[in-house]
Amino acid sequence: MAESKNLKDYHQKRDFDQTSEPKESLKKTSGEKPIFVIQKHDASNLHYDFRLQVGDVLKSWAVPKGPSTDPSEKRLALETEDHPLDYADFEGVIPEGQYGAGVVIVWDTGTYENTSEKKGEKYSMEEALEKGHITVTLQGKKLTGGYALIRTQGGENPKWLLMKKKDDEADARRNPVSTEPKSVISGKTIEDIKKEDA
Ligand code: MN
Repeated sequence: MAESKNLKDYHQKRDFDQTSEPKESLKKTSGEKPIFVIQKHDASNLHYDFRLQVGDVLKSWAVPKGPSTDPSEKRLALETEDHPLDYADFEGVIPEGQYGAGVVIVWDTGTYENTSEKKGEKYSMEEALEKGHITVTLQGKKLTGGYALIRTQGGENPKWLLMKKKDDEADARRNPVSTEPKSVISGKTIEDIKKEDA
């Protein structure tokens, strides 16, 4: 799974005559740091898609409860198919009958640093994915500081846990998933986009 550096699964699930989701990784990332994005996705089940740029794709997890800033909270993160880099800007409506039908907003985005290591030995993102133990430092608009993703179950549909690391940015009282619902690129909420589309 960790090595699927192509978009075959992504393409197979979608009809690009029907959905306005991006097809390829055409975007050039300017900075030297890789990007992350968290998309709030109101589909059949509301969830947050957590995506980390690795090379020219976005490695992706669906997090039903969304990320927490409280280190004692472990959030289930279901590994999903790699998405094209251009998906990082995608916001809008996925039409009825299409995979993931519903509304998407860019809930948070920014850059990240891979801090994955074990006993002082640093790992590349590819190695960390393989090992099922990833740590990153996020520099987003809502989320900052260290996060860990730990794989708890492999197989066809790997399950992970997303956790905030104990650091200066940890804050058990903040609950950005409920208190900061707006898109960081348009300022819109899921409901705003639903009204526009109605
Ligand atoms: Mn989704």
